[in-house]
Amino acid sequence: MTKDYYKILDITELSSQDEIKTAYRHLARKWHPDVAGNSPDVIARFKDINEAYQILSDRTKKADYDTARRFYSYASGAKKSDFKTTGTEKKKSEKTGEDKRGFSFNWEEFIAKKYRETQFKKEKKVKTPKRGEDVYSDIEISIFEAMSGTSKVINMLQTHICPNCSGRKFVNGAQCSFCKGKGETSTYKRFNVKIPAGIKDKSKIRLSGEGDKGLYGGANGDLYLTIHIREPKNYKTDGLNILKTLPITPYEAVLGANISVPTMKGNVSLKIAPNTQNGQKIRLSGCGIVQNNRVGDMIVTVEIQIPKTMTNEEISLYKRLQEISSTSVRED
Ligand SMILES: [Zn+2]
Repeated sequence: MTKDYYKILDITELSSQDEIKTAYRHLARKWHPDVAGNSPDVIARFKDINEAYQILSDRTKKADYDTARRFYSYASGAKKSDFKTTGTEKKKSEKTGEDKRGFSFNWEEFIAKKYRETQFKKEKKVKTPKRGEDVYSDIEISIFEAMSGTSKVINMLQTHICPNCSGRKFVNGAQCSFCKGKGETSTYKRFNVKIPAGIKDKSKIRLSGEGDKGLYGGANGDLYLTIHIREPKNYKTDGLNILKTLPITPYEAVLGANISVPTMKGNVSLKIAPNTQNGQKIRLSGCGIVQNNRVGDMIVTVEIQIPKTMTNEEISLYKRLQEISSTSVRED
């Protein structure tokens, strides 16, 4: 340990950066050779004050110095009064290479060694290949798509190392204009995802290597797509057949109608014949589930529903129907 910078600036290890600065300014003024004279002692002391400030005002250097200082105190059993405070004493210890207790410690060498170790670790870290992160997303499909199999186009946002600055964020000292200093770029990639027939709800499809990019030669992550099968409304399945309940109004049942019904083959116009009864079944051939070159039908069950709200005019028309009705649906 060559010098006690705390003693030189007349402060302690607990002094704040502001206190260090104030102490330095005060002493630098007091011991300036223009003020205190040009003697070798004054010049040496002025140099020490500046040196002390350079180390203690830099957080990293201060932390390393503190470590070295404590180590020295411990190893040598030195008391605070044993630390040298002036350049003249420094000369003495430099000559012998050891202090008066016969213990030598060069903290500058200690810091330099520590710095080299940190740099080595940093470089080592940079070169280690890093596998890209896995990415997770979801795909929603209908029960028919799940049973028949389908393909879905999805767009995934992918992040890459900026090709312009190679992730360094700066080019020739200026912020990279391509990635605006982010070091990475994001683009959408289109995937045509094949979903096999008979896929179960919550199952995952893995697209190998389509996750985040690996670093320093590391492999890419994977993309996992979780399948969500939409809860079917008014549909059931029976083997390859799709069973559907179709609500119709009383007048559609009486007069007949053409109603558009969504099926595996797209919308199909379903003909309701006049005088259709409640519960009557209509078969739409070839509109069921397709599996292994076989195809089922859609079976539509008609359900006559009374509208929940009706206008006074509608109700009065029903009253009129009641008055003029000639037949009964009951046999007796
Ligand atoms: Zn860039």
